[in-house]
Amino acid sequence: MNIAVIGTGYVGLVSGTCFAETGNVVTCVDIDEQKVKKLSSGKVTIYEPGLEKFFMRNEKEGRLIFTTSLENGIRDARIIILALPTPPDGDGSADLKYVLNVALDIGKLLKKGDYKVIINKSTVPVGTAEKVRTNILKSLHERGIENADALFDVVSNPEFLREGVAVEDFMKPNRVVIGTSSGKAKKLLGELYAPFVRQGNPVIYMDEKSAELTKYAANAFLATKISFMNEIAQLCERFGADVDMIRKGMGSDDRIGKRFLFSGIGYGGSCFPKDVKALSKSAQQADYDFKILEAVMGVNENQKVHLLPKMISYFKNNISGKKIALWGLAFKPNTDDIREAPALKIIDELTAKGVTIIAYDPEAMENVKNEIGDKITYAQNQYDALEDADALLIATEWSEFRTPDFNKMKSLLKSPVIFDGRNLFELYQMEELGFHYESVGRRVVG
Ligand code: NAD
Repeated sequence: MNIAVIGTGYVGLVSGTCFAETGNVVTCVDIDEQKVKKLSSGKVTIYEPGLEKFFMRNEKEGRLIFTTSLENGIRDARIIILALPTPPDGDGSADLKYVLNVALDIGKLLKKGDYKVIINKSTVPVGTAEKVRTNILKSLHERGIENADALFDVVSNPEFLREGVAVEDFMKPNRVVIGTSSGKAKKLLGELYAPFVRQGNPVIYMDEKSAELTKYAANAFLATKISFMNEIAQLCERFGADVDMIRKGMGSDDRIGKRFLFSGIGYGGSCFPKDVKALSKSAQQADYDFKILEAVMGVNENQKVHLLPKMISYFKNNISGKKIALWGLAFKPNTDDIREAPALKIIDELTAKGVTIIAYDPEAMENVKNEIGDKITYAQNQYDALEDADALLIATEWSEFRTPDFNKMKSLLKSPVIFDGRNLFELYQMEELGFHYESVGRRVVG
């Protein structure tokens, strides 16, 4: 099948590459000329495990093409996938300008007798599929095209991939949600996704609105799970209980499940923060006060800086002039994505207090440099960051931080002090090694 993907960011590049991997010819369109140039010269623009291998193979085979021209991109495509940004606008609701403008442009290009399905993969509020349809029709009507309705269908097909394991998620999705009332589109999407669900994971068909809301509901629920555990962690610190024990005790109940119960310094990323905000805004617009979401957002903002008062108190209100090593900048491991990363907020707060920060992240340093430049210094590796630092702060749970050489750490740090925002280490181990160790929802060691 010929497919066009409009927007070649995290979702667009992963989807496009994975659809090419199953034999489709995919043209990826992006307005960012630099990005298209880089991709066309065989360079992957994001870090995502497994992506490069698929990218190289399909690019070489001519199944993966990049262009800045929407017209060229969609000319031969039966399916057009929108993977465009939907950032929060001024009031927190999803800004649909990218999606709706592209819809107008598509309407200017559709041709008589050339039926296409427009799939919306961006995360969008309920009713967006209808707005996309209206905009495409508007352009078609302006061109005086008759029977414009029959020329296309719009499908809501939210994306559930997780950054860091995006390729794996895309190739073997837990489920595929397809929102459409068109039998023709349903058949086409069934064929498109068949290679991805061979193990029997469900393709769930529903109406467009339900599909749109499913995505927000899933993300908001996961964010709620995280914030709930972070509130339990707050109680643990006050009662002297251990949130890790509670997590294990809770998680072995099938109804609760083991995943997303880790407490820490909050969620970040390009999805949870904006999607929770957008759902809350949508609810307000529908005259409903979604109280839980407000609490989830509030808890998360506080949680990002949860370790700061502990640090200030450790340094006896004299943190200015201290040098802190920071392990982890990405909002989570296995990605270079730093959007809404807790580390960035911590950097802001600490540097404003006169703290010097030397950071290390395996993948995200380039992106941070582009955003904040020399506000902090960047280390060559995780140990270099520790040299002469007054303490280590851990913000991202990269695997390589989990079993470090503690003796080397002790010899490099000015004193053996760790503030761990991701609860990576066992308390008994820290005790044995003689670290001062503060984490989230667990007792202070040392
Ligand atoms: P992104 O910012 O990484 O990529 C968007 C791309 O669209 C950029 O490359 C940008 O240059 C391009 N673009 C903007 N306007 C364009 C236009 N007019 N024509 C062509 N290209 C254009 O965004 P993303 O993370 O891939 O997210 C895209 C959508 O998918 C969002 O709605 C997001 O909420 C949703 N989503 C993201 C994830 C994720 O993990 N990142 C997961 C599921 C869903």
